[in-house]
Order: sequence, then structure tokens, then C-alpha cells
Amino acid sequence: MNIIRRKGVGWIEVICGSMYSGKTEELIRRLRRAQIARQKVSIFKPKIDTRYSADEIVSHSSLRLESIPVESAWEILEKAEDADVVGIDEAQFFGMELVDVCQTLADKGKRVIVAGLDQDYRGEPFEPIPQLLAVAEYITKTLAICMVCGNPANRTQRITKDEERVIVGGRDIYEARCRKCFKPPKKP
Ligand code: ADP
Ligand code: MG
Ligand code: ZN
Repeated sequence: MNIIRRKGVGWIEVICGSMYSGKTEELIRRLRRAQIARQKVSIFKPKIDTRYSADEIVSHSSLRLESIPVESAWEILEKAEDADVVGIDEAQFFGMELVDVCQTLADKGKRVIVAGLDQDYRGEPFEPIPQLLAVAEYITKTLAICMVCGNPANRTQRITKDEERVIVGGRDIYEARCRKCFKPPKKP
């Protein structure tokens, strides 16, 4: 991505896709490059995600980067005051208020990079990602590999019977699947 940067103008980048598609890897790659450029980088994740670490964002391939765990999107606004670049992982856990928070940060001249699931385990759009896609300047869709057939995968199959929308988990609960192999759970 070649971004011509004029000082004082911010923007929003969204990285979205299914689980295991490399969203966190891509987020870490971009944030590391910003750190190398000696920009002030602040990284946030929701407190609810403690799968690999409480205070780092961690990819399924074990890349990791220090981050601030926050309870709500509004906390990001306060804590990113001095940042040039703001990274946010697991955006789907923050809810709709994240849209206003990202807009405000970008309006203040910051580069905002958001990563999150674009569909839930039923294959339904997972807010606030669809709304963020609408207002973002740059969008990246990442694809995983289907665990059944090996094709590119953009869905997340829940392999347990639980019906809550948010269940934090890994390989024991979720699998990447392509359009053909994804079996949406029955509507309750
Ligand atoms: P995400 O944040 O989208 O869940 P990560 O960036 O944490 O993804 O992890 C991506 C890495 O996960 C890949 O580089 C690969 O090493 C590993 N991986 C495990 N299962 C799969 C899969 N089914 N498809 C692709 N990558 C997978
Ligand atoms: Mg991730
Ligand atoms: Zn498949």
C-alpha cells in the first residue's frame, strides 16, 4: 500500500476476514513498520481476549506486540491522545461505539489501523466491521485456508454447539472454512 502522507490528515485502514486469515499478523507487520519509522504507536485490544496474553496482541503463528488491554472503545480515545498511529485488534468485541472512536481519532490526524472478524459464526456481518468498512479509506480482506478442502476460506465454522455470539476460543472451538464447506448453524 503506497500512502502519500500529508501532515495532519488521518485515515482509517481496516483488515478483516475469518479466523486464522492473518489479520493479526498483518496488523503487527504494519505497526512494526510504523515503529521502525519512529512514529508514536499505541496498540489496543479488548480485555475479554486473553487467549495467548493479557497485554500483547498475539497471532496464531506466535508473532506478538505489546498492547494496552481496554474495557471499552472510549478508553482508546483517552489513551491514544499522543499517538501518531493507533492499532486495534479484535475490533468485533468493541461494538458500534468503535466507529465513532475511530472516526474521531482519524479526524484528529491519526492513522488508525483496525483488525477484526467481518462475519460471526453464523456467517452474518459482525458489527462494527461493516460500518467501519463503509467509512475507511483502505480495506484489506484476508483469507485463511479451509480446514476441509484446502481452498481459500472466508468463514469461521464453530465446531461446538454453543449459541452465544461471542465465545472467545481457538482451534478447539473454531475452524476456517470456505463458502462450500461452511455449514451455518440452524437458526434458533
Ligand atoms: P487471525 O488474526 O486472522 O485470526 P493470525 O494472524 O493470528 O490470524 O494467524 C495467522 C496464522 O495462523 C497463519 O500465518 C498460519 O500460521 C496460522 N494458521 C492456522 N490455521 C490456519 C488456517 N486454517 N489457514 C491459514 N492459516 C492458519
Ligand atoms: Mg487475530
Ligand atoms: Zn472448503
